[in-house]
Amino acid sequence: MSVVIIGGGVSGLTLAHGLRARGAEVTLLEAGARLGGNIQTRKREGFITEAGPNSFVDREPSLRELAASLGIEGRIRAADPGAKRRYLYTRGKLRALPMSPPAFLKSDILPLGAKLRMAGELFTRRAPEGDESLAAFGRRHVGKVATEVLVDAMQTGIYAGDVEALSVGAVFPRVVELEKKHRSLVLGMARARAEERKALPPGEGAPKPSGAVCSFDGGLEVLVEALARALGPAARTGARVTGLRREGTGWKLAVEEHGRQAELEADQVVLAVPAYVAAGLLRPLDEKLATRMEGIAYAPIAVVHLGFAPGSMPPPDGFGFLVPTVERRRILGTIHASSTFPWRAEGGRILYTCMVGGAKRPDLVELDEEALVTLVREELRELAGVTAEPIFSEVIQWKRGIPQYNVGHLDRVAAIDEGVARWPGLHLTGNAYKGIGILDCIVHAKSLVDTLAR
Ligand SMILES: Cc1cc2nc3c(=O)[nH]c(=O)nc-3n(C[C@H](O)[C@H](O)[C@H](O)COP(=O)(O)OP(=O)(O)OC[C@H]3O[C@@H](n4cnc5c(N)ncnc54)[C@H](O)[C@@H]3O)c2cc1C
Repeated sequence: MSVVIIGGGVSGLTLAHGLRARGAEVTLLEAGARLGGNIQTRKREGFITEAGPNSFVDREPSLRELAASLGIEGRIRAADPGAKRRYLYTRGKLRALPMSPPAFLKSDILPLGAKLRMAGELFTRRAPEGDESLAAFGRRHVGKVATEVLVDAMQTGIYAGDVEALSVGAVFPRVVELEKKHRSLVLGMARARAEERKALPPGEGAPKPSGAVCSFDGGLEVLVEALARALGPAARTGARVTGLRREGTGWKLAVEEHGRQAELEADQVVLAVPAYVAAGLLRPLDEKLATRMEGIAYAPIAVVHLGFAPGSMPPPDGFGFLVPTVERRRILGTIHASSTFPWRAEGGRILYTCMVGGAKRPDLVELDEEALVTLVREELRELAGVTAEPIFSEVIQWKRGIPQYNVGHLDRVAAIDEGVARWPGLHLTGNAYKGIGILDCIVHAKSLVDTLAR
């Protein structure tokens, strides 16, 4: 079986690696000059920065297993334990996010009235049938204020989206399951914990993932480099696929490779590219399918790194902070990168990584680099009291950064799956459909390995 994978981000790379291990003849075509897609680690002036994703949460074993198969599991590094502390900018100042129900009762993260309303979660009614926005779901369960502050911040940290537009079923499927089963999320979580304890006496069963925020010792690129090494010449960079057609029982691809036009044949083709690229390639074959795929919106986002000299300020505490939309500030949040991963800043240097834009402020991503650095410095000064002069800055603008799983996403993806299934030997993977994080991409790519190997 010959398989051509289009796109050399973590999805395509994981798939290629898994298929080769099962004996398939694989070619991976990547348009860019390097592999890794959104994952891009840079090393400059004593800082290790991430242009795209910053970390992953060790919540399920797929990434560890992949790393082990590449001989780099020992290079996974958990965040500093202090990174468990997180902050929210709300009602004019940074406030610590409580880490337990008793701490929540004592904390000032929400005004008293909003905390009392949250207690009413126990009496929430089940949802009406059909998809619902995250905001509507939040208001039903925890009330308006907690939705504006907590629910909005939670999604901002992952989707940089619009809480009124995101689909709760697509972005937080587990909470919808809990509601279906138990009506109240609080009751559901309590019962699930009790069941877990009953099923497995302490100390028994497979070791659980740590749940820690993690990266690799040299940044996330370590994973990309190991996958690239394992694939060798099977992964071709500078190879942009420009056309796709069905021929006989297989596929023909038009490829522009280092300025030359070429044609390639394959039994199976996998599109591991952003949904809008996949839509462009499929449009001449299937207008309806392409239109559905193009309907997946992407939020633009800018990543601004600011580095500071050792001793220029006390190191910031915890993982970082998020800013709910209702505060009307110009940053979405900040990662205290050097406190979270101290090895990413040499000799006591300090690194802040700020996110700007998202679905609610796409205009800000259009600013030039200098304006973005100025904006972030102003916001850090006002929100976190950072007045020191940076010794380093770096700006990355993602015009189409993060796919938005808006209301209707689950139906859209089901229809896309149906459309793709009509084309023998055509497959999709990537972060546009069934999970936007690195881990989701790896899980999905691995399940596609099983499907294809079968
Ligand atoms: C700013 C930012 C922060 C993020 N933070 C996190 C985080 O902290 N943790 C986390 O888990 N996830 C995070 N994510 C999401 C994560 O980066 C993605 O889920 C993941 O990297 C997507 O991988 P992918 O392979 O599906 O797609 P991509 O990385 O987009 O790869 C697609 C590849 O296809 C190539 N391509 C496009 N067109 C063609 C063509 N015609 N022919 C050949 N190749 C083509 C592209 O060049 C690209 O390399 C973040 C994303 C962004 C943008």
